[in-house]
Amino acid sequence: MAQNEDPYWRLRPPPPTPSDDICSCSGSPPIMLQAHLSSNPISCITCNLEVPPERIGFSEPLCEWLAYWQQFHDCFFLLWLDSGEFESWAKAQLEDPESPVNKQGLELVSDLNSLRRAYYWLFQDTDVKDFQPLSRCPVCQGELSEQHGRNTCEQCSIVIGD
Ligand SMILES: [Zn+2]
Ligand SMILES: [Zn+2]
Repeated sequence: MAQNEDPYWRLRPPPPTPSDDICSCSGSPPIMLQAHLSSNPISCITCNLEVPPERIGFSEPLCEWLAYWQQFHDCFFLLWLDSGEFESWAKAQLEDPESPVNKQGLELVSDLNSLRRAYYWLFQDTDVKDFQPLSRCPVCQGELSEQHGRNTCEQCSIVIGD
């Protein structure tokens, strides 16, 4: 049944990711750990679409940790989206590379890097007055370089911005 025919679709289990939203790049482009309120937080750095886990081939413990981290990250993201009393706290957690959710994400990326070149997509709130994109890596303060059309810190495996 199409989603718009079922008034309760938001309470149903989510359908599989549509094939249009799955990476079809050739070769093995680098991946990004990037939570987006779906069950798989692995995106392609080139097309930004979801990379199915079987294309990378994770161990079961790594898969479990990724699934846990995805939900952990969503907690902060939802508090930020909710725009209530926890908004600024949640935003600070999402932007601070030293916060528990980002530290775990960076550790996960270091594990993923043994399987395929992987980066951590670091959240930045772009919807603020006088927004300035980061020009240096917030972890090592090194200069960012352009890779695959994105600003990255190669040393820390971090992607900044869209
Ligand atoms: Zn792709
Ligand atoms: Zn760095």
